[in-house]
Amino acid sequence: MRFIFTNDDIGGTDNPQHIRWFEEVCAWLEGMGIPGTFFWVPFAGGKPGYEKKDLMKAVERAKTRGHDFQLHGLRHDTCLEFGLPSKNSTILNTKVLNEYESNRKKWEKEHTVERLGEKINTGVKIYKQAFGRKPLVFRSPCFGMCGEAYKALAGAGIKYSSSRGINPLATAYTATKNPEHRRWDPDFRLPAEFEGVLEMGCMEDLVIFGLPENEYADRIDLFKSEMKNYIRELGDRGTGIFGSHYWAMMSAWDRVRPLYEELFSWLRSIGVSGWTTFSKSLK
Ligand SMILES: [Zn+2]
Repeated sequence: MRFIFTNDDIGGTDNPQHIRWFEEVCAWLEGMGIPGTFFWVPFAGGKPGYEKKDLMKAVERAKTRGHDFQLHGLRHDTCLEFGLPSKNSTILNTKVLNEYESNRKKWEKEHTVERLGEKINTGVKIYKQAFGRKPLVFRSPCFGMCGEAYKALAGAGIKYSSSRGINPLATAYTATKNPEHRRWDPDFRLPAEFEGVLEMGCMEDLVIFGLPENEYADRIDLFKSEMKNYIRELGDRGTGIFGSHYWAMMSAWDRVRPLYEELFSWLRSIGVSGWTTFSKSLK
C-alpha cells in the first residue's frame, strides 16, 4: 500500500515567512524522496493566487521538483465555507457551531448547490490560470463539508475529494489531553462516494496544535495506533492519505521532524511501500 503526503494552506498567505516554511517542507520531503501534495488556497484575501508573485515562484520551483498541487477551498476565511465540520471536530472548535446557529439563514444560503458551485467554479478558474490544468482533488477548509458541496463538485466535474478527517477525536485529545478523547471513534467511514464524488478521507493532523517536548512519546504512540486503525479501515481499497499543515510543522519543527521521520520509517516496517501524489495516483 502507498500513502500520499498532503499539506494544507499554501497560498493562504503570501507572508515571506510562510513561503520560507513551505520551501523548507519541500526540501525536507525531497531529502527523503517523498513528493508532496499541497492543497493550495486559490483566492485568499480576495486576491487570485496567481497574482502573488513570490509565492508562485516558490510553487513553480516545487512543481518542477515533482510536488503536486490541488484545490483547497476558495478564500479559506471561515471553516463554514463549504459546510459544517464533522461532529468531533467541534469539540475544540465550538465557535464554528455557534456562528452557524447564530446566522443560520445566511449559512443555509451559502450552502446551496448553486452558491457552492459558484465558489468551486471560481476556485477552479483561478487554479487553471495558475497551473494550466484543472484540479483533480478538492479539500474543504477545516474539513467543513455538506451533501450540496459534493453535488456542486460533481457539477464542476471534480470527481475526487479529500474533505473529511477520519477520527477528529484523536486531534481533540492532543489539545484537551482528556483520556476519554484518546480512542478510535471515527466520524467518518470508508469507502464513501457522494453524488458521484469519491471521498478519500484523511488521517488527522495530530500536530496541528504543536508538540510539547514532554509529549513526544505519547504522540508517536497515538500516531501509530491511529495509523493502524486507519489502514485497517482502508483495507485493500487503496491509498492512504496523510494530513499535515506546513505552518504547524514549523511551529515545533525540532520535534515534529524526528517524529515524522520515525513514523515514516515505522510505516515502511509495517508494509507501506512508498509515497505518491494525487496527480500520479489518479491519472
Ligand atoms: Zn486549510
